[in-house]
Amino acid sequence: MSESWEDKTLEFLPVCLKLVGVPVLLVGGGEVATRKARLLLRAGAALTVVSPRITGELEVLLAEHSGVWREACYAQSDLNGKTLVVAATPDAAVNKQVFVDAQQLSMPVNVVDSPALCTFIFPAIVDRDPLLIAISSSGRSPVLTRILRRKIEALVPAAYGRLAGFAGRMRQVVKDSIGQEAERRRFWEQTLEGTVAEQVMAGQEAEAERLLRERLADTSAPHTGEVYLVGAGPGDPDLLTFKAARLLQSADVVLYDRLVSPAIVDMARRDAQRLYVGKRRADHSVPQTQINQLLVDLALQGKRVARLKGGDPFVFGRGGEEIELLAKHRIPFQVVPGITAANGAACYAGIPLTHRDHAQSVRFVAGYLKNNAVDHDWSTFQSTTETLVFYMGLMGLPVICEQLQVHGRAPDTPVALIEQGTTLEQSILVGTLATMVDLVARAQPSAPTLIIVGDVVRLHDSLAWFGRAIR
Ligand code: SAH
Repeated sequence: MSESWEDKTLEFLPVCLKLVGVPVLLVGGGEVATRKARLLLRAGAALTVVSPRITGELEVLLAEHSGVWREACYAQSDLNGKTLVVAATPDAAVNKQVFVDAQQLSMPVNVVDSPALCTFIFPAIVDRDPLLIAISSSGRSPVLTRILRRKIEALVPAAYGRLAGFAGRMRQVVKDSIGQEAERRRFWEQTLEGTVAEQVMAGQEAEAERLLRERLADTSAPHTGEVYLVGAGPGDPDLLTFKAARLLQSADVVLYDRLVSPAIVDMARRDAQRLYVGKRRADHSVPQTQINQLLVDLALQGKRVARLKGGDPFVFGRGGEEIELLAKHRIPFQVVPGITAANGAACYAGIPLTHRDHAQSVRFVAGYLKNNAVDHDWSTFQSTTETLVFYMGLMGLPVICEQLQVHGRAPDTPVALIEQGTTLEQSILVGTLATMVDLVARAQPSAPTLIIVGDVVRLHDSLAWFGRAIR
């Protein structure tokens, strides 16, 4: 029969200690002691270290924080006047003695890595000061604790501390304005997950405060929503940024097109409305002006809208056009960078875009055909130490290869065409300016494709680990 949780005594109760100005003794001066010292000093402890030797780093830390180093072996009298003691010496007998002495004085004691000699332990911390998350395995498995900490680190936005600080500053204002507790809680719940919170996390605290006060003044007034122009990366969902994932999951409506992989759209909230605004076979895509207007309309209805863009919104993404109208209507928006196709596809294909021996610069180029030409001043593309990355270049490939050769690039300049970069379907064709057109005609790659030109392509042979090359 299993015990209910009430039957089982907690071995350690997590509490938060206020150590500012509190006299603390640290016995030991090695690496482990240095780590503990860093933590105790971060909490503002008045630290005394007793140890015959200490690390250089600990010496600096103590000097910086007006700590004291008693250059000697531990003696019981070191505990006089202290509130707390930590023992971190390599000598088990000394550690044990510290424990026994502290127990006699009813002083909280921690012996590092010896749960049996601890009346308190240090949890792992996710630090978003003033927001703190402490994780403890009650001394059973520090490694498991650290693994869990890593997961939580990824889950909690870095700016949550700023948000907690803001909420603290506004607490009284809200309390004065909303007397009823349940209503106040509802207000905070909405505020801490809404536009105000996003503004705070983006560093726009003044604007956030203005918005919060406006809502306090009239809780029934319709709210303006917010638009997030989110870079969704080149395909692999793992290449999304934390910020992109968070905003996507907070959105009421998600607009996406064909370059955004379904797995990413699936990360939206289940009840979020999903609007496809890309091309569908013979159909034409929703015209750009209509998309711009749609974003405005949805935001004015109070919706939080995520507009997902393949790659990065500001690299051949027309992101600038979509936010122009929002700015004009004074609708709050944020632009979240994404990994652009050139970066994603090149990394996954083992082609460094720059390399000390081969390329000192890289250029992202639009490769589409306009009136059967690719519109560029080709004379500026001659440098053999510049890598060229052509977006939207599949149809224009013959023109690109021809023009580069006409303007001085050698026919044997290496070229790679990466198909569906960073997805499980990624594949790569490798040839030269002279052979690439035939190669592509035979292989019939499917969109999206990216073309990389330059000596760095040769490195693919030795550096690729993902996708196979077809020659
Ligand atoms: N904003 C996007 C680019 C949009 S333009 C970005 O930053 O990546 C569309 C072009 O991007 C496509 O024609 C193709 O050349 C390139 N592209 C986008 N995703 C790609 C992928 N997964 N693999 C190869 N090329 C890609």
